[in-house]
Amino acid sequence: MLRSESVAWPVTVEPRRMHELSIMESVLEMARARAAEEKAARIHKIVLRIGDVSGVSLDALTFAFEVLARDTQAAGAELVVERVPARCRCGECDAVYEPADPLAGCSACGALRGSLIQGRELELSSLEVS
Ligand SMILES: [Zn+2]
Repeated sequence: MLRSESVAWPVTVEPRRMHELSIMESVLEMARARAAEEKAARIHKIVLRIGDVSGVSLDALTFAFEVLARDTQAAGAELVVERVPARCRCGECDAVYEPADPLAGCSACGALRGSLIQGRELELSSLEVS
């Protein structure tokens, strides 16, 4: 019931897109600043590291990139996304594991007291400019 309601209601889509737009705005701002430091005229490639549980939609991010990079020095640049898997440390036995789903317990002892130590990344990893 809830699920079909939220899919049918287009308003829920817009804020997400806004979110990715503002993320991409700051990525491009950082890229431009870096290109200026290098006295480069063009940005050829942008590599991002994005955690699997960062809540960022890659589709929306790619869309935002195409819209925002148009007619800028990053136009036509390649956008590469390196995905970072979620990783937890168990609060019971201290094992580090990659949960199969967000509700999965520790793979060593089954405890549900894991804390996320990796997977929320959202970073500009590298850049190619000239
Ligand atoms: Zn454990």
